[in-house]
Amino acid sequence: MDDIQRFLAHAIQLEKESARRYEELAEAMQSLGSMEVAEFFRQMAHYSRLHLKEAMQRGGFHDLPELAPDAYEWPEGTSPEAAAWAGVDGFMDVPGALSLALDGEQRSRDYYLMIAEAAQDPEVKRMAEAFAEEEGEHVAQLEAWLNGLAKG
Ligand code: ZN
Repeated sequence: MDDIQRFLAHAIQLEKESARRYEELAEAMQSLGSMEVAEFFRQMAHYSRLHLKEAMQRGGFHDLPELAPDAYEWPEGTSPEAAAWAGVDGFMDVPGALSLALDGEQRSRDYYLMIAEAAQDPEVKRMAEAFAEEEGEHVAQLEAWLNGLAKG
């Protein structure tokens, strides 16, 4: 992945999916009456959308860049977000929702790390590193929530 536009197109797709998942999770938590967790997920959706906007600006995109579905190169064949959600259906409780979100963030972080490691292009490398760091912060936030639950 040595083309910054291509890299950003992937990041944009990832953030878009992430924001949508967080909104779904927020609704699920709200319907369970877990307002605090719902609010946290809404914040995470908000940050994904900010990140999305930033990636679009850096890429000089005014609209979402359109790559043909088979033009995306994901390590698992689908985006890390979609991979985290594969096989999920039905009822989700608070720990389940947090674990799922954590899985998505870890996969996203690993994806960016992998790109950063393999990239020859210094700009792609730098941005992938920055994105991996941000995902690492999301991982830490979710772990903190899960630890909080474990302590009751
Ligand atoms: Zn994230």
